[in-house]
Amino acid sequence: KGPDPDLVAIEERMRTVKHKILVLSGKGGVGKSTFAAQLSFALAGLDKQIGLLDIDICGPSIPKMLGLEGQEIHQSNLGWSPVYVEDNLGVMSIGFMLPDPDEAVIWRGPRKNGLIKQFVKDVDWGDLDYLVVDAPPGTSDEHISIMQYLKASNVDGAIIVTTPQEVSLIDVRKEINFCKKVGIKVLGVVENMSELRQQLESAEFKSVDAQGEEQDVTNEVLDVLKSHAPHLLSSFVATSVFYGGAGGAEKMCKQIKVPFLGRIPLDPKLGKAADEGRSCFGDRDCSASAAALRTVINRI
Ligand code: ADP
Repeated sequence: KGPDPDLVAIEERMRTVKHKILVLSGKGGVGKSTFAAQLSFALAGLDKQIGLLDIDICGPSIPKMLGLEGQEIHQSNLGWSPVYVEDNLGVMSIGFMLPDPDEAVIWRGPRKNGLIKQFVKDVDWGDLDYLVVDAPPGTSDEHISIMQYLKASNVDGAIIVTTPQEVSLIDVRKEINFCKKVGIKVLGVVENMSELRQQLESAEFKSVDAQGEEQDVTNEVLDVLKSHAPHLLSSFVATSVFYGGAGGAEKMCKQIKVPFLGRIPLDPKLGKAADEGRSCFGDRDCSASAAALRTVINRI
């Protein structure tokens, strides 16, 4: 029996792509797509030629996060053409193929895998410096064949996104073992939504009076700060969002000897940028989370 022709075709297709990075998570809702989207914006901002491939078929959120909702993909004799945000940032997502974004995708098993295979094999990316792949979360049997396609593309490795919560970290360990099993290198782990950061100058302060009524004391607090310690106005409050606090992922990485890439705060402004399909870089409001993302990217 000769080599699988699909895997050969994938290898062939990916020859024009210098680096391929998978973005994975153990479970949904931890910020994997947000990270993949912002990583792509960041790399494109460095004047690299970037492709973003969204094969998270159950929840394709990449079109919205890149500001490309409602766009359609076109076919040429070279394959499917990506949708471009900028000349150097092309995107391909199952989301472009759904007639109604509110429709749940219920493709399963072979049909789903067949489509994912086509996505890896048939997109005409041209020359790329980086292809960022937003991969489906989980470690099921179904994932094994998906990973085989990705492996055939000679991936550099996977970045795993997690929150500091124990439930997410347990799944990260599974995901790391899964990567080992299928022979994909783990480039490192990112802790997202590490802590909530809020600048004092944009915070609201409340107090509860003797009657149990809530009072807005924002102006009083800010006035005291302005007159006594104006230099503190730009400082921020860092609050643990999850039980156990930030740092769980770093500890786990030390234990199992996997690179830890850094922490990204829970930042409502970053969530807003993602919802509006914008890059958080160059957005003054997002400066803290953008700086954290830069640190992570520099370590990849
Ligand atoms: P996943 O791909 O892991 O399912 P998403 O990237 O879709 O998760 O993120 C889930 C939600 O959380 C989205 O609404 C996104 O805007 C928000 N989000 C993700 N990371 C952050 C963050 N660091 N700060 C604020 N909101 C975030």
